[in-house]
Parts: sequence; structure tokens; C-alpha cells
Amino acid sequence: MTLGATNIKALSFAKVNLHLEVLSQREDGFHEIESILQTIELHDVLHLEVTDGPIRVLCEHPSVPVDRSNLCHRAAKLLRMRLGLKKGAEIRLEKRIPVAAGLGGGSSNAAACLLALPRIWGVDVEDELLVEVAERLGSDVPFFLRGGTQLARGRGTDLTPLHSSGEGWYLVVTPKLELSTADVYSQLRMGLTRIPPKVNLQSYKALLSRFPERTWPGSNRLGDVVLPGRPALRRLLDELEATEPRLALLSGSGPSLFAVYSEREQAEVARTSIDIADGFTWVGRSVREGVKLVD
Ligand code: ATP
Repeated sequence: MTLGATNIKALSFAKVNLHLEVLSQREDGFHEIESILQTIELHDVLHLEVTDGPIRVLCEHPSVPVDRSNLCHRAAKLLRMRLGLKKGAEIRLEKRIPVAAGLGGGSSNAAACLLALPRIWGVDVEDELLVEVAERLGSDVPFFLRGGTQLARGRGTDLTPLHSSGEGWYLVVTPKLELSTADVYSQLRMGLTRIPPKVNLQSYKALLSRFPERTWPGSNRLGDVVLPGRPALRRLLDELEATEPRLALLSGSGPSLFAVYSEREQAEVARTSIDIADGFTWVGRSVREGVKLVD
């Protein structure tokens, strides 16, 4: 990496949830979860340049705001404030990850900014500070600072890296369907009392070391509220399951679905066999990072 570079490019990867259990509603309004997150090759590209002006975000995607509500903008502003810097930045975002789709695009973009901006601002930042800022930006943001395969607990920010991996070929299918993450969680009608998880946490690590295998018990509790009443999504998941993947699930609060195969060919064949006229499909591998900085 060039020292004192004034611009940098960052690849900001998407995630899927190999497992997602919601245990209770917390007093602070967040939900207590147990999840296994996995980054995949699907990515957005960010071009960041140091300026003397304000923080500026540019993005041509019609569903992505470029004002202060953009997570890149929020990440840059918060980091700049914590570091007491006066420098600005122009952040150009090439959006490839479907938006509001359960693939964590906005959170990944925020983590990419937290890792890339110190390089162009010419400062060293402690990991603890990045984690603290990431937690304030959103529950999934700390995960993307490292990426790979991680067990997430608490509100999603207590992370344990899993050195075994969700390796395999991933097929992601995102139908055109609007779902609000907040609505999906509220429909769960969770109380403050913790419900017992479907899967014993201790068994995850051992099972994951043999993943992908057919007996992987990963499930997504949010499917309980998302799938009933949405027959088109249910049918798509059934179609994915019929292609005999190692795992087929809803990712996050949806509407993206994904399936994992051991061979690329199987994922490609499955992609052509499913009936999705108007939506996004993607085939690729898992990755071991959340963000990749490129000179
Ligand atoms: P979450 O489950 O946290 O909502 P998601 O992966 O389902 O995440 P995102 O693609 O992150 O969804 O987008 C959620 C919303 O955040 C979008 O509707 C969009 O308006 C807003 N948003 C803000 N910044 C960004 C960004 N950098 N990229 C994408 N969306 C962003």
C-alpha cells in the first residue's frame, strides 16, 4: 500500500447468514441473536479520495441515498469526529450488491469506509476505536471489519471468528420484493424472556468444521414471519431446495435467498433451473475478509 496515498479503492463484500436465531427482545430495543455470518465474493466498489471540503458521497443507484443518511457518509463523519480531523473525502460508490436485500450491503460499505479512510487521511487508528465506531453505525458493521465466517451473539456485535469455513459455491437469488428489516423483527413479537435456541451453540463449531455437509442444521428464525404469506418467495425457496444444495435459506430478513453447493457446475445449473423472471441472481465463492483495500 502506498504511504500517503490520496485515493484508494475498496471492495466491500456482501454477507449471508448460514444461521440466524432470534432469542429475545432486549431492553435497549435491539434483539438478542445468535447468527453465523459468512462473507461472499459479491461486492460493491468504493473509490475514496481525500479532499479539503466536506464529506461527499456519489452513487447512481436510485435506491441509495447520497445525503447524510448514507452509511458511508455516517461512517466518515463519525470517524472524522472521533479522530478530531478536519480533512474531507469524496466517496464514489459503485453498487452491485442488491439494496435492502438481507445481504448487508450498507453495513459492508460503512466498514469499508472505516478501513479505507485512515489510509487516505494519513492516520493510524487503533482497532478498538474502529470497532467502537462500527458498533454505533449498526449491528452488522463490526462483522465486516474482519469478515469471513463469524459467530455473532448479543445484538450481533459479540463476534467469534470460526476458523472452519462456509466454503463452497453460493447461489444468491434476490426477487423484486420489498421487505423492511424493522417490520420483520417486530412481526416476531419477541418478549424480553429468552427462548431456547433451536440449535445447541456448542455443536456449531464442530459441525461447521465439516461444512458444507448435508446435516448442517442452519436455519433462519426470520423465515417464520417472512415466508408465510409470501407464496412466491416460499416457492422460490422450494425450487432451490429441489436442486439438492448443502443448504438453502433466507438471508437476514430477506428477500434474498441463497443455496450452497460443493461444485460450481451445480450452482450454475441450479441458477438456470429456478424460475425468477425479474430479479437478481449471482454465483460465486465465499471469501475470508469483509473488505479488501486495493491501491
Ligand atoms: P439491513 O438488514 O441492515 O437493512 P440490508 O442488507 O437488508 O441491511 P442495505 O442494502 O444495507 O440492506 O440497505 C438498507 C437501507 O439502507 C436501504 O434502503 C438504503 O436506503 C439505506 N442505505 C444507506 N446507506 C446505504 C449504502 N451505502 N448502501 C445501501 N443502502 C444504504
